[in-house]
Amino acid sequence: MKRGKLIVISAPSGSGKTTIARAIMQKYPGMLFSVSATTRPPRAGELEGRDYFFLSKEEFQHRVETGDLVEWEEIYGNFYGTLKSEVDRALRQGTIMLFDVDVKGALSIKKTYPDDSVLIFIKPPSFEALQQRLLNRKTEDDATIRRRLDRVPMELEKGGQFDWQVVNDDLKIAVVKVDEIIREHTDSEILTHL
Ligand code: ADP
Ligand code: 5GP
Repeated sequence: MKRGKLIVISAPSGSGKTTIARAIMQKYPGMLFSVSATTRPPRAGELEGRDYFFLSKEEFQHRVETGDLVEWEEIYGNFYGTLKSEVDRALRQGTIMLFDVDVKGALSIKKTYPDDSVLIFIKPPSFEALQQRLLNRKTEDDATIRRRLDRVPMELEKGGQFDWQVVNDDLKIAVVKVDEIIREHTDSEILTHL
C-alpha cells in the first residue's frame, strides 16, 4: 500500500488558512484532518474530537510526559499539540492528512517526517489586509488582535523555510494553488481514493 502524505498548512492568524483548508476538505471527502490537542476552551460550534481534543493543562502535561505528541507549542497563552496517533493514522491508512498548526509546529513536523510532509505557508497580500480581515472577522477583541499581529514578523520569517508559499489575495486562486501543490505531491493511486 502507498504511504500517506502529511500536508501542513500554516499562516499568520487572519490570512485565510481555515477558509482555504475547509475548501480543500470539501473537495476531497476522503482526506483526513489532524485533530490537535489544546488547552484552550471550545468556541461556539466547535466539537470535541472533530475540531480539537480539549484537554485541561494537567491532561496536556501528562500527554507531553508520556510522549504522545509529535510537537507542541504555547500560542496566545494556550497549549496546542499534534498527536502521534493522528500522524500514524494517516501514514498507516496510506492517505492524505491536512494539518492546521502554527509555523513552529509545522517545522517540527518536517524535522520528524522530512520525506512524508509538505509545508505550505499562506501569506496575506499585505499587513494592512491582514489587519482588516481580523477586524472584519469580529471573533477577537482589539487586545487579542494586537497579540496575534505581534507574531507576524516571526511567522513571515519562518514561513520562508516552508516548501511552498501561497499568497491569499483572491481566495479562489489561492485554493486552486494549494490544490495543485497537494496534487503534485500525491501519488495518483491515492488521489483516486480522495
Ligand atoms: P485564519 O484561519 O488564517 O485565521 P480565516 O480563514 O478565518 O483565517 O480568514 C480570516 C477572515 O478573512 C475571514 O473572515 C475570511 O472570511 C476572510 N478571508 C479569507 N480569505 C480571504 C480573501 N482572499 N479575501 C478577503 N477576505 C478573506
Ligand atoms: P486557534 O485557537 O485559532 O484554533 O489556533 C491558534 C493557532 O494554533 C493557529 O495558528 C493554529 O494553526 C495553531 N495550532 C492548532 N493546532 C496546533 C498544533 O497541534 N500544534 C501547533 N504547533 N499549533 C497548532
